[in-house]
Amino acid sequence: LPPFDAGDPLGIDDLLEPEDLAVRETVRSWAADRVLPFVAEWYESGELPGVRELAKELGSIGALGMSLDGYGCAGASAVQYGLACLELEAADSGVRSLVSVQGSLAMYAVHRFGSEEQKQRWLPGMAAGDVIGCFGLTEPDHGSDPAAMRTHARRDAGGDWVLSGRKMWITNGSVAGVAVVWAQTDNGIRGFVVPTDTPGFSAPEIKHKWSLRASVTSELVMDDVRLPADAVLPEVVGLKGPLSCLSHARYGIVWGAMGAARTCFETAVDYAKSREQFGRPIGGFQLTQAKLADMAVELHKGILLAHHLGRRMDAGRLRPEQVSFGKLNNVREAIEICRTARTILGANGISLEYPVMRHATNLESVLTYEGTVEMHQLVLGKALTGLDAFR
Ligand code: FAD
Repeated sequence: LPPFDAGDPLGIDDLLEPEDLAVRETVRSWAADRVLPFVAEWYESGELPGVRELAKELGSIGALGMSLDGYGCAGASAVQYGLACLELEAADSGVRSLVSVQGSLAMYAVHRFGSEEQKQRWLPGMAAGDVIGCFGLTEPDHGSDPAAMRTHARRDAGGDWVLSGRKMWITNGSVAGVAVVWAQTDNGIRGFVVPTDTPGFSAPEIKHKWSLRASVTSELVMDDVRLPADAVLPEVVGLKGPLSCLSHARYGIVWGAMGAARTCFETAVDYAKSREQFGRPIGGFQLTQAKLADMAVELHKGILLAHHLGRRMDAGRLRPEQVSFGKLNNVREAIEICRTARTILGANGISLEYPVMRHATNLESVLTYEGTVEMHQLVLGKALTGLDAFR
């Protein structure tokens, strides 16, 4: 039998191909060099300095629009994309959010629903990280129920679109060169590709967040933003457009959340082995070991679940309800792991000297965005009973 591996107790790495391990190593070492040494400082100052440079570097390692084909994208498998999300979020959920929004929301929308011309115009620059994208669905008064959104677009006599409304909590908003904005039209909800230098468009940054502080979050304000007729995404009408983008991004979060959990778990194990109270390491007390054992069980079950969903996505068999299953479980368990790690570190657990509190507070956002816990419970509840309890 192979020896017990504390870093991979279930032997999940046996399921990975050499190329998967190479992708993981590339992203892990990039994050170790470019994020880990600085992220506590970014977090404390509530800024992501050098975000444009970071985006270019992420582009150069193939992490942007990673599982998309063509147009400069890496064409990686879903499992490889998931492994990248895990490694990025093991550093910080904010950096993973940058990548999720760029690849799974903004680029995915253009790749899946855009015209050939839109794809050629936007995707290569976005894959390289030269152009940052954002995705505007949520509004101040409409979050979990985006169908009720008020942002609207109408066509004027010359055929141009005129877009007006406000979006809220938009990741990458203030640093984006292009925004994918969802709006009501006379024919249902449509997606618009909006260059952010278009007159009437502005994206003030949202300050005073106590979660995801190393991430740019913004409002989008659109006052009669005039767009050419071909700014609309031609291939989709209705809420299924944004929802299918969200499903792709949520899939990455299923993996990503386990990265945050892994960092907190590893920090707790190290700490428990070296911190002494009552004359011996706190890791030698049964109560601490019970916590560590339970954390390890949930961490590796979560990674196994992510891997299972990844294989289904690669086989073209992943249903949205299954993504809800994964997002619900993995984010909820990840936050629990981080909170338990916090207790093991005692007072040190609240300090930015350790990554635990940063990850735990980041996960408060991850718990809410891309569908709250309650929304995913309702998705599963409906699938299990056939009864719609959303309204
Ligand atoms: P609400 O919808 O008002 O919900 C409040 C509470 O009520 C939740 O607990 C919810 O589950 C519950 N609730 C609502 N309806 C029901 C119901 N029928 N039954 C039971 N409970 C219910 N959005 C974007 O479009 N693009 C982005 O890039 C983006 N980035 C974000 C970044 C951050 C840091 C954050 C915090 C949010 C971001 N969001 C983004 C917004 C996010 O998707 C929304 O916050 C989320 O959808 C929830 O909407 P809400 O905050 O308006 O909460």
